Amino acid sequence: MGVSVLSPMGGSGKTLLLAELAQRGFVALTASPISLFLRSYEILERHEIYDVLKARIVADRCEPCYKCVEACKKGAITRDLRVVEGLCEGCPACAYACPKGAIKFVQAKGAEYSIMKAGKGYAVELRVEPGLREEPYLEGLKGVAKRLSEDAGAPYLVEGSRVGGSRKALLVLRSSYSLEERLREFEEEAGKAGAEAAVVLNLYRGPIRVRTSLPVFEMPPKEDPAFEDFVEEVASWILR
Ligand code: SF4
Ligand code: SF4
Repeated sequence: MGVSVLSPMGGSGKTLLLAELAQRGFVALTASPISLFLRSYEILERHEIYDVLKARIVADRCEPCYKCVEACKKGAITRDLRVVEGLCEGCPACAYACPKGAIKFVQAKGAEYSIMKAGKGYAVELRVEPGLREEPYLEGLKGVAKRLSEDAGAPYLVEGSRVGGSRKALLVLRSSYSLEERLREFEEEAGKAGAEAAVVLNLYRGPIRVRTSLPVFEMPPKEDPAFEDFVEEVASWILR
């Protein structure tokens, strides 16, 4: 089982932490642009996943009646009978509405991912097409992260929004109004999942205080000399 790294908001420092841990020998799986945070990396593999359906209008069967335009609740079919791929969800209301059987479906790219060697470890960077959820892809890629972690001889870390079945979980927080609420949810989730849990407080925007009995790691700004010690402490906690 891997280690979940969660945060309730963007800009928490979670991706920076994942990048630092990857470079120290761990495997990081994330839907954030981790390559921007890596000092150097080499792309070992790149894969595209064609797993979503998109409507197409077969021009020589279509006798324009515009029933498909009316049927599409996503506004994905224009008045000149083109399907806007980014809006189409493959539902397939247009096909049911078409009296001429002029709608077909084609497979389109849902996501792509890259496996990178980064320092002593690995990073897996997922990019999901707009409108699609990242979680199912991250779940599917856990198998890839597990294989890399066996090669690296180190645990894998998965970005996520829930603790799931992880053996350990880290919640990364920065200053915001709902910290305590998210922290209580996290403590409850981790308790139910039987996961060992800890909290990282990102001090980049100033001090934060939270009430918790969990271990707390304070993340200084990256340029602070104490940053390296902070990453080492988190790495030790994961390996403990
Ligand atoms: S499949 Fe659904 S979303 Fe796509 S064009 Fe047809 S009605 Fe619209
Ligand atoms: S419903 Fe079928 S026949 Fe009518 S405009 Fe759309 S694709 Fe053409």
